[in-house]
Amino acid sequence: MPHADIPAATLFIDGEWRTAAEGGTREIHCPADGTLVATVAEGSRTDAEQAVAAARRAFDEGTWASSSAWDRGDLLLRVADILVRDKADFARAESLDTGKRLVESEFDMDDIAACFRYFGKLAGTDSGRVVDTGSPDAISRVQYEPVGVCGMITPWNFPLLQVAWKVAPAIAAGDTFVLKPSELTPSTAILLMRALTEAGLPAGVGNLVLGTGPEVGSVLAEHPDVDLVSFTGGLHTGRTISALAAPTVKKVALELGGKNPNVVFADADFDTAVDFALTAIFLHSGQVCSAGARLIVQDELHDRLVDEIVRRAERIRIGGPFDDDAETGPLISEAHLRKVEDYVAKSVAEGAVLRTGGARPEGERYAAGHFYLPTVLDEVRQGSYAVTEESFGPVLTVERFTDEDDAVRIANDTHYGLAGAVFTGDPAKAQRVANRLRHGTVWINDFHPYLPQAEWGGFKQSGIGRELGRAGLGEYQEAKHVYQNL
Ligand code: NAD
Repeated sequence: MPHADIPAATLFIDGEWRTAAEGGTREIHCPADGTLVATVAEGSRTDAEQAVAAARRAFDEGTWASSSAWDRGDLLLRVADILVRDKADFARAESLDTGKRLVESEFDMDDIAACFRYFGKLAGTDSGRVVDTGSPDAISRVQYEPVGVCGMITPWNFPLLQVAWKVAPAIAAGDTFVLKPSELTPSTAILLMRALTEAGLPAGVGNLVLGTGPEVGSVLAEHPDVDLVSFTGGLHTGRTISALAAPTVKKVALELGGKNPNVVFADADFDTAVDFALTAIFLHSGQVCSAGARLIVQDELHDRLVDEIVRRAERIRIGGPFDDDAETGPLISEAHLRKVEDYVAKSVAEGAVLRTGGARPEGERYAAGHFYLPTVLDEVRQGSYAVTEESFGPVLTVERFTDEDDAVRIANDTHYGLAGAVFTGDPAKAQRVANRLRHGTVWINDFHPYLPQAEWGGFKQSGIGRELGRAGLGEYQEAKHVYQNL
């Protein structure tokens, strides 16, 4: 059933809803059953350039950039109220585009409203600081100013959440922006632009251009009038965007992938470790940048833990977004499903032991969707393809360790550094290991929670910069030193 309320004029440029300049359109199909859910405008370079020009004018004109940060904060709080009011519409649109379970989309909407509320409250609380000059004849301050025009490029796995992490701090900071969401999941970005307009965002400040990365996203990365490009997505695309941005020396913020270790010591609470190992990887069918894809288990616990995980994985119910009994859903596309199949085939070829899954589920219910069974690959070798490449699917790999040093060494043996977890009954050991993990987020006896007030981002090749928290606002600001000789 298509979204009745998403018309074809779905580009938002300079305060107007438009169709694509070159007439392009794209059909959006639900990954669970292939139904047509929307037909949206597919923008091109022309649309992207017009949107950048609109954002540039709105910034250079100066009214928005010099507006009260408290007022911008109030606007964000009004957006949060609209998101709460319209939660059901947003969640349904998100589930239709992604195929994710409605309850998960509803949960995401609560987080998205919380993100807008956090940056709404943060705006205006910290405009800079007075700096001691060491002289009674001079005063000095550092003040935070907007960066300017921001280009934002986001992925399909948490479509509106990743948008919110960029749009909310940009508005708090007084920037203008052009947003390009994933071409696969544009619906909630369209609804958000309506909410921003309703909340009072001036024309030109927020612009939306739908389209592909090479066509629209690349303009945001390379355009000289864009001051910051903020990207969330895969490592390889992140490298391309860095290269495209380099000639104009703009600020670049990257939130990339992860190959996240989940370290389980033999002294961990068994049931807790099993429950979290399962949600760590099988939530949203593993299409989570911080998914616990690598289970790293102490030797003596290995057999018992893996047997139980396999037993439970085989009972996970797969289904569409509106199936009440579903515990996990489809992958985003046939192309992505093939990538996951290829990853499993290569891993098995290099020696991984397939304990369960490794295939598409059978049955009429799954025929038109992109489903894959929860999969466990045991006895994978350190440094192998299986533990270095992100599958971004419902595939858990298992490695063994002997002692604490061994666990840390294995968990850090990756070019990624997004997130990791440690399960143990020994709080001192938990802290020691957490301090030694080279990952941007570490959970102890838990997996996946994050807070809008705590920074999120990657060490190593998982990214550059931070989203959320005070540093997440700082990405969208410049610091200016003003020194006066009295
Ligand atoms: P992707 O890199 O294929 O695409 C992300 C976005 O980049 C899309 O909007 C796409 O259109 C655009 N894009 C693609 N090629 C481009 C180009 N040449 N120039 C400009 N833009 C381009 O990623 P995806 O498949 O949509 O998302 C999955 C990836 O995102 C995974 O690797 C996942 O780990 C990562 N991710 C990271 C985080 C995080 O917080 N670190 C969060 C979510 C997803």
